[in-house]
Amino acid sequence: MFVDQAKIKLKAGNGGNGLVSFRREKYVAAGGPDGGDGGRGGSIIFKTVTHFSTLSDFRYKNIYHAPNGEDGKSGKRSGKDGENLIIEVPEGTVIRDAESGRIIADMTPPCTEFVALKGGNGGWGNTHFATPTRQAPKFARNGQKGKETEVLLELKLLADVGLAGFPNVGKSTLLSVVSEARPKVANYHFTTLEPNLGVVNMGEGRSFVMADIPGLIEGAHEGIGLGHEFLRHIERTRLLIHMVDVSGIEGRNPILDFETINREIALYNEELSKRPMIVAANKVDIMTAPEAYEAFKAYIKEKGYTLFEISAATRHGVRELMEYTASRLAELPPIPIFEPEEVPEIEMEEEIPFEIIKEGDLYIVEGPWIERMTGSVNFEDYESLQYFQRVLRKGGVIDALIEAGVKEGDPVMIGELEFDFVN
Ligand code: GDP
Ligand code: MG
Repeated sequence: MFVDQAKIKLKAGNGGNGLVSFRREKYVAAGGPDGGDGGRGGSIIFKTVTHFSTLSDFRYKNIYHAPNGEDGKSGKRSGKDGENLIIEVPEGTVIRDAESGRIIADMTPPCTEFVALKGGNGGWGNTHFATPTRQAPKFARNGQKGKETEVLLELKLLADVGLAGFPNVGKSTLLSVVSEARPKVANYHFTTLEPNLGVVNMGEGRSFVMADIPGLIEGAHEGIGLGHEFLRHIERTRLLIHMVDVSGIEGRNPILDFETINREIALYNEELSKRPMIVAANKVDIMTAPEAYEAFKAYIKEKGYTLFEISAATRHGVRELMEYTASRLAELPPIPIFEPEEVPEIEMEEEIPFEIIKEGDLYIVEGPWIERMTGSVNFEDYESLQYFQRVLRKGGVIDALIEAGVKEGDPVMIGELEFDFVN
């Protein structure tokens, strides 16, 4: 079956651990610390591709782990960074947070790359913790764990034109005669269960993408007959060609068919029903109900739509329909893009803003906001330092340190900064 939705689990790589190690030299009893840092864990990055237009691969593989960073090595050598994991998705894939359902990225040009999860930072080797008074630190930092999340991928095809209409009216046939696409064509309702994309070449460098959207029947907006899945695709199109079988060969009423499909579209998405629409009256080569067709033409005219009389099979009127479509497209705005509903950096959302880790005699305060802040504070400047202390107090860091057992004069490390605790 055609899949245009997939739920996948992502996990960024863990940072490698820092190493505790000391130089070993001949005749030197205790060399200095030389434990290297852990490598950074691999990130998870989405990239768009254009050579495939389905999410079906994600059905077979739905867990993606980026590799971990290597642990630090002796001789102050850092562990290797974990490689980033690139996940290729077709253009037009929308990435949602699986839990909240909110959009975190729309992989539609200009967005072709998106870092979904950053790898964990590598831990520091014991080399970093040496001070004049602590020459042999017997501790190092562990790497940061890589974040995990679950995302929902949703493909909304990027086509300029969507072909709407009941099954069997000739949508696949039209697409196959105007483009290189070779969709399945058969005289059977529900044959085509995959949307097909084709590039319609108008010559002189003019072209547009047309999608055959199958499965539209009554109740489609409620998900009957997979209609819902396919309606998702026309959401992205700039113009609709509504195809109707006017031959009467199947005993259908073209006015009723036209209204039914329009109702389904409007029930699915009100916005979508405002998309410009061209009517293609197909199968005129086997016309058996000319009166019904005349009534349909009058009805369409009254509604203000432009109607083209065609036969996809004999290609009668097809060229004119495509020319008109191209000229309408030239006046229409580009394909709509979905704005992210959430800051893309999900990996920055820490549950706790900081944590305190005790390593030997040292209290280490860690957390993303602290690192950002220490980077911007000038520690030579008194006011700046006061501000820093205020933030620590307001942020609950001082209280947390006291709770963790810190005493006057104990060494505390925040980011790159080490100082003695004074309350
Ligand atoms: P879809 O379900 O809308 O994609 O319809 P298809 O393109 O699969 O066509 C359904 C059937 O109608 C097939 O047997 C086609 O050969 C036939 N058909 C499509 N267009 C025409 C046409 O213009 N004239 C005639 N006589 N048959 C057509
Ligand atoms: Mg079809």
